[in-house]
Amino acid sequence: MDGLPEHESTTETDLRGALERTGRRYTRQRAGVFAYLRSVDSHPTAEQVFAAVRLHIPNLSLATVYNALEALVAARLAARLADDLGGPVRYDGRSSPHYHLRCERTGVVRDLPLSYAPDLIDRLAPDLVAELRRLGFEVRGHRLEIVGHFRDE
Ligand SMILES: [Zn+2]
Repeated sequence: MDGLPEHESTTETDLRGALERTGRRYTRQRAGVFAYLRSVDSHPTAEQVFAAVRLHIPNLSLATVYNALEALVAARLAARLADDLGGPVRYDGRSSPHYHLRCERTGVVRDLPLSYAPDLIDRLAPDLVAELRRLGFEVRGHRLEIVGHFRDE
């Protein structure tokens, strides 16, 4: 999509380091899954990742792909996007905070051409962050997803 920041570049060394910090090994399969996830902005499901990456890595299994995706999520190199309408979990290779649009008919998730606003919650409710801190809750960020559907074509 136009107008969006470039995906952060992560080298093999960074990937290896991030996986090892969470007690996971760097493998060719994980590197392949990560490279694919970083190359697309479609927020694919595990099955879609599997279909794409198996073309480059023969003998890849769907279980290995699931495992690789969860390893990347644990290392904070990817994010998991659950679907509260019961659709499949999708994965996002963009680990910096950003906003999404979700189509309730197809489950499609797209990045929005909006900059992340760290102070958005302060603007909506100036005392909320302080109030939550008093309750022992430390705010680390927020998520915003615009929901709706595309017009039938
Ligand atoms: Zn995204």
